[in-house]
Amino acid sequence: MNRNGAQDVDDRMQHWEMTVDRFAVHAARWHGAREVVSRDADGRVTRSNYASLERRARQCSAALLAGGIRPGDRVATLAMNTLRHVEAWYGIMGIGAVCHTVNPRLFDEQLSYILNHAADRWLLADPQFAPIVERLRPKCPALERVVYLSDAAGRPPGADADFEALIGGQSADVRWGEFSEHSAAGLCYTSGTTGNPKGVQYSHRSQVLHTLMVGTYEAFGLAARDTAMLIVPMFHANAWGLPFAVMAAGAKLVLPGPKLDPPSLYELLEQEQVTFCGGVPTVWQLLLDYLRGKRLRLSSLKRVLIGGSACPEAVMRAFRDEHGVEVLHGWGMTEMSPIGTASGRHTAAVAALDPEAQLGYSLKQGRVPFGVDMKITDDAGRRLPHDGHQSGYLKVAGPAILERYFGDGERSVLDAEGYFDTGDIGTIDAEGYLQITDRAKDLIKSGGEWISSVEVENIAAGHPKALMAAVIAVPHPKWRERPLLIVKLKPGETATREEFLAFLEGKIAKWWMPDDVVFVSEMPLGATGKLDKKRLRAQFPEFPPH
Ligand code: AMP
Repeated sequence: MNRNGAQDVDDRMQHWEMTVDRFAVHAARWHGAREVVSRDADGRVTRSNYASLERRARQCSAALLAGGIRPGDRVATLAMNTLRHVEAWYGIMGIGAVCHTVNPRLFDEQLSYILNHAADRWLLADPQFAPIVERLRPKCPALERVVYLSDAAGRPPGADADFEALIGGQSADVRWGEFSEHSAAGLCYTSGTTGNPKGVQYSHRSQVLHTLMVGTYEAFGLAARDTAMLIVPMFHANAWGLPFAVMAAGAKLVLPGPKLDPPSLYELLEQEQVTFCGGVPTVWQLLLDYLRGKRLRLSSLKRVLIGGSACPEAVMRAFRDEHGVEVLHGWGMTEMSPIGTASGRHTAAVAALDPEAQLGYSLKQGRVPFGVDMKITDDAGRRLPHDGHQSGYLKVAGPAILERYFGDGERSVLDAEGYFDTGDIGTIDAEGYLQITDRAKDLIKSGGEWISSVEVENIAAGHPKALMAAVIAVPHPKWRERPLLIVKLKPGETATREEFLAFLEGKIAKWWMPDDVVFVSEMPLGATGKLDKKRLRAQFPEFPPH
């Protein structure tokens, strides 16, 4: 008898340990000839398929085992989205070792902290990151071996190992899986806005469940006939689970490598006839701007997944009106594997509205798939109603959501009901759509009332001359805090403060109107391509003098 008094059955279904290697096995067996296309740092395009990917991943497993890597050991990757990186993932996870994806855009101190905290034994790195690796090596005593994800020709000078040499001659006859689905599969550190980065460890079970969740039509809805390109890097919350989800679907996989500038992305989108693609808003803003400037069309793209920060209205409109591309807006975080909600596939009631009203819902962060539960609460932790107006602290629960940080002992970070505090502030409406109004730490509290910096910056980013916009709180003698709008203009544009204030007029409440507007030539971006408001706040501790 189990906990609730129900009977376990004797005549029952088969038991599978839900381990992620099954995605590679499935893709190889049922979609073996489906293409995997990868572009390296030097621009060279490699064509492979799932049968080969699985074989080479097993060879990688054999090499890791021969090198003394055991289940539970951490193997780090410092790499962009390439075929070898995907092969390494499955090679590591298939034998129960833990794949620790490290973000190469972090500062050296953060990188060495992360590698030491995780006690990574091996590091598999892209050759272009050799200078970072050389700086890190002396600071990471637990690191036994560095292997470059290249062939002999692409190996950095002086390096002692490359991926092709590592797996060459190894047997592909390696046993995968068959260990507990509760074993660790992956590890990813959040950039951490305060204090040290924190590690989020995913289990095989949580990854498999997450893949099933994101595979639903309401979420990413990938199909075997899709061609999916992964722009969001694999070190950013596992590329939102796409390396698993794409292979579970058997879709063609396109890996763009390190070149993520608009011309390089456009070339690959067209050349490979990509139908589905995922990335943060800044990538899309730059690409759309490039397409407009060059009068180029997207001939195959059908759906884009936009997440990581709020999708600006201008981006959603441009995709819809200029390119006929459907936007799926997703919200989530590293601690959630990362899906939280998705917007785009509407409920019956919303689908019956006119296109403009539907767009309003698409701009929200969306609804939860099965496997995620959420609530919003007030300061005292009491649940707030789902009326689309009252905003509160957003808390989430589910089998692919963090309970405790890696290496933090038994310390759970959940509330009494088992919910994880996301640090986001939002509303939930009667249709179940979540709208993020802010990060708790980015809130602007003017005269005791909250101003949504996200909403103001999204509207400002829609100004025809704006490339990016940010709104931060600046101390104010009377209201305690007031908003400052910071704008990066499109190349060659000039604008005045008054132009932007006039643009906002009537679109936001009067008291939300920024007290000032400043123009910057560079917008500070964090390691995952999001606006770095911490740096902006440091740059503008007070309103600039006029
Ligand atoms: P990360 O763990 O680096 O992916 O960051 C997660 C955080 O990014 C969330 O807690 C949100 O604050 C923010 N975020 C992610 N997606 C969205 C979105 N669609 N809209 C607004 N904020 C988002």
